[in-house]
Amino acid sequence: MRTGAEYLAALKDSREIYLDGERVQDVADHPAFAPIARTMAELFDLAADPSNGMTYRSPETGGEANLVFSIPRSREDLTARRHAIETWARHTHGWVGRSPDHVGSFISAFASSPESFVTDRRDLSSGVTAYHRRVLEESLYVSYAIIPPQVSRATTAHAWDGEFIQAGVVEERPDGIVVRGAQMLATGAAVADEIFISCIKPLTPDDRDFAVGFTVPVEADGLKLYCRRPYATAGSGYDYPLSTRYDETDALVVLDDVFVPWERVFVDRDVDGLRRQFFSTGAHVLGNWQAQIRFVVKLRFIAGLAGKIASVNGVDRIPGVQEKLGELAGLASLVESAVLAAEYKAEPDGNGMWRPNARAVYGAMGLQAELYPRVLAILRDLAGGGVLQLPSSVADLHDPAIRADIDRYVHSPGVEAVDRVKLFKLVWDAVGSEFAGRHHQYEMFYAGAPFVAKGYAYRNFGYPEAVADVEAFLAGYTDTAA
Ligand SMILES: Cc1cc2nc3c(=O)[nH]c(=O)nc-3n(C[C@H](O)[C@H](O)[C@H](O)COP(=O)(O)OP(=O)(O)OC[C@H]3O[C@@H](n4cnc5c(N)ncnc54)[C@H](O)[C@@H]3O)c2cc1C
Repeated sequence: MRTGAEYLAALKDSREIYLDGERVQDVADHPAFAPIARTMAELFDLAADPSNGMTYRSPETGGEANLVFSIPRSREDLTARRHAIETWARHTHGWVGRSPDHVGSFISAFASSPESFVTDRRDLSSGVTAYHRRVLEESLYVSYAIIPPQVSRATTAHAWDGEFIQAGVVEERPDGIVVRGAQMLATGAAVADEIFISCIKPLTPDDRDFAVGFTVPVEADGLKLYCRRPYATAGSGYDYPLSTRYDETDALVVLDDVFVPWERVFVDRDVDGLRRQFFSTGAHVLGNWQAQIRFVVKLRFIAGLAGKIASVNGVDRIPGVQEKLGELAGLASLVESAVLAAEYKAEPDGNGMWRPNARAVYGAMGLQAELYPRVLAILRDLAGGGVLQLPSSVADLHDPAIRADIDRYVHSPGVEAVDRVKLFKLVWDAVGSEFAGRHHQYEMFYAGAPFVAKGYAYRNFGYPEAVADVEAFLAGYTDTAA
């Protein structure tokens, strides 16, 4: 199994990443990326250590592999998969959304359903299963960019001014396709091995050239990443404990005539094929189940933060405060229950892959855009001004005169200033820093805009049965009934 050191060594390639007007020379050493690369390396080391129970013998390769990349073929497999995902999520307390298990889950489901990649024009199924084998054998970290650039949502790519704004096929060659254009955002791509590029937003028949699904190495010729401003460099690890460990560096992906060989192409100019890829295979529900497993770990961490500050501030026995903590507990427990219900009600599909129950997964996902802001609001409420009654940085604590005042005025009963400041700096990094703001946006949008996520919940709820139940009830009495 791949170790953290092997992963870090693999990042030393010719990838083209831009930040603040300059090309990043060595992503693993750069202050904006080194922290998240180190975190990812820790995840690989965790998985490689047999004592953590994350490995299994893969039927696809015959060798040891990471459970997070497995195709679940029984309920027990799903449970083992969840435990492995939780082990990784607990290591980052749920603050890393796009660890390799996210897109890895999509790839596993793709490979479980090879027929979804066969059309009259082309059979791309062997490339998909071979790619999954590579993910298993090499513990490949794949990120993805599956949303078109936010040019205009009034129309789709074919109607935009300018050719090939959204990534599409400009040329077909005997051995593959040439792709030009951009995709909106790839979280983690700067420190990933490869990127899966596709489109999950509905396209029209006129968008055929943009209806593709393929993978490229991050170092592919012509591929460029334009990263948003980094948060890892916000300050010290004491002042910004989350930003400095878990900033995942979202990036606009630009493809300047990138050549993609056929074995890396999963969908070739096929609008229906895009939907099959995500939905017929079960990839969308399996990938988003991973996201909810990770989300539960984060919610429990935030609940823990709230409980801790309530106790440090001496308000934890006040009934009104317990009510707020109770609401937080209820929200976290609901999502956790949805994750477990999805596993409990899972069923095998036609290919024998056990799919987490869609109603449970999408029910939780559909609420996320309201749930996460509410969770943050409770944490903010309980924190009060404590997140601002703080020295500007750890440097203040190193000045004896300032330190004396901080020690005197910023402590709590039984909690020294240095520990109180540490706690409230962590809370600020969760609710108020630039990293926190990005996470707020992330939890609202990572699975699609809120109206899209609610659409999944709507379609998978079983409204026909619920409405039929009401109709049957209505049919059971009349205006003449006593
Ligand atoms: C932090 C972060 C990380 C991300 N990481 C990734 C990643 O790793 N890979 C990836 O592929 N994508 C990623 N995304 C992109 C994400 O998938 C998109 O943001 C998401 O799909 C929503 O698309 P959009 O942002 O273009 O919003 P839009 O589609 O432009 O929607 C924005 C808002 O406009 C309104 N709206 C737009 N269209 C309609 C409509 N038809 N009906 C009603 N209202 C409408 C709604 O209010 C909606 O909330 C990430 C996003 C964020 C914020």
